[in-house]
Amino acid sequence: MILTGYKVLIFGGDNRHLEIARLLSERDATVVLAGYGNLRTPLPGTMFLETEAITQESFHALVLPAKGADDAGVVDALFDAQKLILDDALLKRLAVRIIFTGIAGTYLRALAERNGVRLIPLFDRDDVAILNAIPTVEGALALTIQHTDFTLHGAKTVVLGFGRVGMTLARTLHAIGSDVAVGARSPENLARATEMRLNPFHLADLKDRVREADLLYNTIPHPIVTAEVIARMKQTAFILDLASAPGGTEFRFAEKRGIKAILAPSLPGLVAPKTAGRIMADVIGQVLLDELPLENLS
Ligand code: NAP
Repeated sequence: MILTGYKVLIFGGDNRHLEIARLLSERDATVVLAGYGNLRTPLPGTMFLETEAITQESFHALVLPAKGADDAGVVDALFDAQKLILDDALLKRLAVRIIFTGIAGTYLRALAERNGVRLIPLFDRDDVAILNAIPTVEGALALTIQHTDFTLHGAKTVVLGFGRVGMTLARTLHAIGSDVAVGARSPENLARATEMRLNPFHLADLKDRVREADLLYNTIPHPIVTAEVIARMKQTAFILDLASAPGGTEFRFAEKRGIKAILAPSLPGLVAPKTAGRIMADVIGQVLLDELPLENLS
C-alpha cells in the first residue's frame, strides 16, 4: 500500500498512534504529529507541529486517539502536558476531509456534521473490532493468570456475550483446555456456540450457570453480572469485565462478597500497542485509497 500524496495529521494519542505514524510514513504519506511535545525520540520521516502553529493547512485525514474527544473537545495526548482541543475553528483551519477516531461521542459527531467532515469511528468497524479482539483476549488471559492461583486449563469458565470479543475469547479458552460455557441471548449465537463445541446457555439462565464457575468473563456492555448473579458465585471465583466502561458487573457487591472483580478496558493499547496501531493504520490507509482516490486528490 503506497500513500504518496496523502497528508495526515495525528492529533494526540498514545503508543498506538506512534505506530500509526510510523507505518503511514513508511508508506510515503506525509505525516504530521501534534500533541507530542514530550516525545524523546523523534519519529523518522514525520514532522511535529505545535497546535498554535497550525495556520491554514490542508490535511486529507485527521487521526484522533481511541476515545476521540470529550464533551469539551479535549483530546487525550499521552506525550504532551498541554491540553489539546479540537473545535470548529481548528477543524476549519485544517480543512480535513476525513476524521478517524476509535469511538465517537456526541461532541465529535456534532462537530464533524457541522463542518461537513466524514467521521470514521474505527472501533465500530468489524474489520478493526475482530482483529482488535486478538490483543484484547491475550490481555484478558494475561490478567487472569496474574490474578488467579489455578490454571486456565481445567477451569470452569463462563463467557458472557458472543460477539467479536466473546467469540475469540471463548474459542481461545476452549483451545487451552478450559471448560467453557457461553451465555448469549440470540438463537444464532447459541447455535454457533454449539457448533464450536462450547456449552451454550441462554442469558435468562445465568444465575443457575455461575454456581460452579471459577472464571467469569463479561463482554456485554449492560448490567448483567448483577448482585443476584454474584450472590450465587463461589467466593474463589474471578470476574474479568471487558465491556466498555462502566462494564456490566456490580463491582460494589462483588467486593462486599470478597470476590475479585476487575474492569479491564483498552487492553489492545496496553498489551500490544504496536499491533493495535498496525490494525488501525492498515484500515486508515485502505479507507484513504478507497474514499479519496489519488487521482481526485487536491
Ligand atoms: P459486539 O460484537 O457488539 O458483541 C457484544 C455482545 O454483547 C453480543 O453478543 C450481544 O448480543 C451482547 N449484548 C449486547 N447488549 C446486550 C444486552 N443488553 N443483553 C444481552 N446481550 C447483549 O461487541 P464486541 O466487539 O465483542 O465488544 C464487546 C464489548 O467489549 C464492548 O463494550 C466493547 O467496547 C468492549 N471492548 C473492550 C475491549 C477491552 O480492551 N476491554 C476491547 C474491545 C472491545 P447480540 O448479538 O444478541 O446483540
